[in-house]
Amino acid sequence: MAEITREMVVESLTQVNDPDLKNNLVNLNSVKDIQIEAGNIKVTIELQNPEGENAEAVKAQCEAVIRSVAPDAGAVIVKSVQKVTSTNQTGPYEIMPGVKHTIAVASGKGGVGKSTVAANLAVALAKDGAKVGLIDADIYGPSIPLMFGVGNKPKVYQSSFSNKMLPLEAHGVKLMSIGFLIEDNQAVIWRGPMASGAVKQFMSDVDWEELDYLIFDLPPGTGDIQLTLVQTIPLSGAVIVTTPQDVALIDAKKGLKMFERVNVPVFGIVENMSYFVAPDTGKRYDIFGTGGGERLAAELETTFLGGIPIDPAIREGGDNGKPIVAQYPDSEHAAAFSQIGKNLAEQININNKNNGPDLEIDLG
Ligand code: ADP
Repeated sequence: MAEITREMVVESLTQVNDPDLKNNLVNLNSVKDIQIEAGNIKVTIELQNPEGENAEAVKAQCEAVIRSVAPDAGAVIVKSVQKVTSTNQTGPYEIMPGVKHTIAVASGKGGVGKSTVAANLAVALAKDGAKVGLIDADIYGPSIPLMFGVGNKPKVYQSSFSNKMLPLEAHGVKLMSIGFLIEDNQAVIWRGPMASGAVKQFMSDVDWEELDYLIFDLPPGTGDIQLTLVQTIPLSGAVIVTTPQDVALIDAKKGLKMFERVNVPVFGIVENMSYFVAPDTGKRYDIFGTGGGERLAAELETTFLGGIPIDPAIREGGDNGKPIVAQYPDSEHAAAFSQIGKNLAEQININNKNNGPDLEIDLG
């Protein structure tokens, strides 16, 4: 049996195009991993839309071309992960050079589940193969330590050049929270400049290394502190979390206007506590009415990223340090968060295409 080499696999993959980017996977630098072990071949490719309708066809094409050069191979397995393009091809943010996208998760008022959405969205994106960080900028109620079950003080990494804090890590997400650094209840007396000073330090003094997405869980509301923060953070865009009631939607609208004022694009709206599914009958109840988030998104010309049901399991996950996406990765709720993550990634890509320079493609 002829030995199969990585080079042979790479060469074969030059025959397969990414349908969204119209170039072959090798030129696009989309072949991320090749493992050849005991005659089995495992390949990971990056696609613009790893779950899109073309993805299965691309994977089948990859398998076919690999088989054609390695007919005696055992299993040929091709996995696809999300391709992440950077907002700014020359290096996004001076303050955090390794970070590709920064996303604020915001809400017009407290209690709508903003932190729950931020946490689960972060875990969902990480599960789908992205490198993800989460900064808890919610000074009034830092809930990320509780939600991720971490509370230790971050370590400081000292070198002759700098002293940087190392983020904590849980469920595949790198974390930094005001809650790691201060005693309970201290933060509520903070004023805007202190909050933005702390968040600035989280950007400049934390060793984030390379990240596809850095998510900021903002304090709820649209007051001075929030405004200062969205001007402090170099944001790629924002996600607004709301519940379906009219009162919450009015606040969500204020949130969207705040981002408009400072020229930060809103990638879309997530409707939390959208509906309830009775565990015994499976019947769906729209407790707060239906379609509020979708209507708001249409009215404000932004995207409806998805809805999350109200379910005690989601609250319990948040209370015991395991976001539901980490605790029940195969549940319907995890799938809903994962879909929101994919919709968000798509909006970011669309935004990049509209605003940024064209994708750099090495045709060499
Ligand atoms: P915010 O950040 O908007 O203040 P949180 O994420 O802290 O809100 O959520 C407020 C409370 O509601 C928490 O106890 C949380 O566990 C719970 N919660 C949030 N979303 C859901 C949901 N979809 N189903 C059930 N409980 C939820």
